[in-house]
Amino acid sequence: MLLRARIVVPISQPPIADGFVRVDGNCIIEVGAWADVKNKSEAVDLGEVILLPGLVNAHCHLDYTDFVGAIPAPRSFTDWINAIVDLKENVDAAAHRESWLHGAAQCLRHGTTTLGNIETRPDLLPELWDATPLRLVSFLELIVIRANSDAAQAVADAVDWIASHKPPRGHVGLSPHAPYTTKPDLLEACAATDLLMAMHLAESAEEDEMFRQGTGALYERLAGAGREMDDCGSSSPVTHAKRHGVLRDGTIGIHGNYLDDDDIRLLAENQVNLVHCPRSHDYFGHAPFRAEALRAAGVNLCLGTDSLATMRAGDAELSLFDELRSHREAFPDLDLETLLRCVTLNPARALGMAGQVGELAMDVFADLMTVPFDGPIEFALEAIVNHTGPAQRVMLNGKWEVSCKND
Ligand SMILES: [Zn+2]
Repeated sequence: MLLRARIVVPISQPPIADGFVRVDGNCIIEVGAWADVKNKSEAVDLGEVILLPGLVNAHCHLDYTDFVGAIPAPRSFTDWINAIVDLKENVDAAAHRESWLHGAAQCLRHGTTTLGNIETRPDLLPELWDATPLRLVSFLELIVIRANSDAAQAVADAVDWIASHKPPRGHVGLSPHAPYTTKPDLLEACAATDLLMAMHLAESAEEDEMFRQGTGALYERLAGAGREMDDCGSSSPVTHAKRHGVLRDGTIGIHGNYLDDDDIRLLAENQVNLVHCPRSHDYFGHAPFRAEALRAAGVNLCLGTDSLATMRAGDAELSLFDELRSHREAFPDLDLETLLRCVTLNPARALGMAGQVGELAMDVFADLMTVPFDGPIEFALEAIVNHTGPAQRVMLNGKWEVSCKND
């Protein structure tokens, strides 16, 4: 299949005016300028569009999609935790399935083709994987709080499950949920595997206070839930994670809203990827995100949506275009190439899919999309970042999953 477009934006090389992408099966085999195409038979002219790679969302909870608007921005992070625990109590298998699939459909419609998702129902996962074309990295959530529970067994069970279950497009990792909802031996058992990991880290001021001071609302709540708190009161959540082995290549830290210079140095030295979720950050009204310091330290910075349970707008959808705009509002001087890498090449690397997704290049999966554009090439990146609403067309694994009305 030969696709021609007004502008091709491969991400891993500069935009190409009047460009083409050649797809064979589920892979891209050629990218370049239309004038250089040797064999033009069976070409599809996509017209006045930008053709770009499908976006890569490094952090989401698809099963919270139907919680959109359910929790007004709370006074504190602990209040939010209490609210989400209450909401989840009423979710049975059918509701979980429905919400997860609503989220997957939203991602696809908005041009996301690869997703790192936190999974709480492995029993339902195989059927959910089969019900979406998305390329998924599913992180199995592990929450072990009580002192007498067997963390090593919980990790061994997850590893066993992973050995016999694989999504049709993607792979499975572990998500020790956060420093505050895990015990140190759980973190150590996760770190001893060679699996990808995703962990909420330094998300809230209350988590920071719990670990650095050994006080505060989150500390009290978890002490009340039976967590041993003797690992609190001395150092930051990031130092805690480092002490118990989870800061390593192949780890995605989620949020990182409360980081001091030492934390940033630790993330960089240990090659931890970090996912910033701009709209979730705004919902909670966190301290300013330290994007410049993280980039300067060399941290692989990605943007993610988080879930719709942490959005101010009651009609929000899972769109990385909305996260791009929100991040740009907070960092207006950020160059567009760097910004777009946060939803393409950087999360591809974080999810263990470098060279497979997040760019248009030879031997990369044919995951791509179009957005309408009839302007000059120098405004193409600007047009991508300013795009609102669904993508015009989306191809995943060489197959059109979202079509243009005019096709
Ligand atoms: Zn999250």
